[in-house]
Amino acid sequence: MAQAQLFIDLAALQANWRALDAQSAAGVQTGATVKANGYGLGAGHVAHALAHAGARRFFVAVAEEGIAVRSALGPSLPIHVYSGHMEGDARLIADAGLIPMLNSAEQLARHFEALPGHPFGIQLDSGMNRLGMEPAEWDAVAEFALAQSPQLVMSHLACSDDPDHPMNAFQLATFRKMTDGINVPRSLAATGGVLLGPEYHFEITRPGIGLYGGAPFTQAQPVIRLSIPVIQIRDVQAGETVGYGNSFQAPRDMRLATISAGYADGIQRALSNKATLWAGDVPCPLVGRVSMDLLTIDVSAVEGAPDALDLLGPHQGVDIIADQIDTIGYEILTSLGPRYARHYGDVQTR
Ligand SMILES: *Cc1c(COP(=O)(O)O)cnc(C)c1O
Repeated sequence: MAQAQLFIDLAALQANWRALDAQSAAGVQTGATVKANGYGLGAGHVAHALAHAGARRFFVAVAEEGIAVRSALGPSLPIHVYSGHMEGDARLIADAGLIPMLNSAEQLARHFEALPGHPFGIQLDSGMNRLGMEPAEWDAVAEFALAQSPQLVMSHLACSDDPDHPMNAFQLATFRKMTDGINVPRSLAATGGVLLGPEYHFEITRPGIGLYGGAPFTQAQPVIRLSIPVIQIRDVQAGETVGYGNSFQAPRDMRLATISAGYADGIQRALSNKATLWAGDVPCPLVGRVSMDLLTIDVSAVEGAPDALDLLGPHQGVDIIADQIDTIGYEILTSLGPRYARHYGDVQTR
């Protein structure tokens, strides 16, 4: 079988949720962001495991993502939608029992017209200039909106992965100014905000990346292992070239393994001649270009013929790969392609 295998350790995912939950005071509810199909790992499996770990509130980006999460969770746990209530969403929001986080006066009007009495939340912009109502817009509608009893008022931090960034305190102060004194649960912290400390936690936190093992939660347990089968092994002599464009020339005699994954699987072409794969504990450099379905790896240091090489695993998380090509672990994780066979390790049921 040439299909690459993605192993997803749901017990590690649960341990990461518990570890982030333990960062907050007892009264704070730790939610879970499971957008983008659970950061590429499978929203249904991820949500089910996190609910068993104790998560009682879930967040997705768009209403359509709520369907899989709802069917994994059953009818009762709240699922919030960051993009709010878009034209045409009413049926979906009602049927899946979703809570749109209304981002503008326009969305407020749409929601109360289409689904009067249906639960909703409010998203405020405290300085990121991405989603949510700004202070002036909020001033104009706050009295009306609060009279309809929102479930949650939230905002999002732009720089929470950098604890020393002055933007964090600025956004905290802005959020407080916009919401102090209201009698509604508040949420400001994603993973980075949880790690910034208790004044950022309010009543509800909503970490994502840390659950899946990514920075800035550097103490996270590794959740995934990506194992790519070897299709063929060959010996090349010093001076021979490898792959498209001859971008690698063997500096000495070496043994190469051709393995079965490529840029169509989210292993970006920018990793050509940069990434390292692992044969057990032995690091093996990727040589030549990343092709659509194939990678060529220098396995000269490996004893015997390896059956498969790992790109991701305990030796190397998504952030190490991301650093090599100037991106972030989030992008590596959410790019993991649909061709992998996904295997889910055990959920711990308490
Ligand atoms: C993605 C997202 C989160 C989760 O962020 P992480 O950095 O992955 O923890 C929380 N809130 C909003 C609004 C988001 O878009």
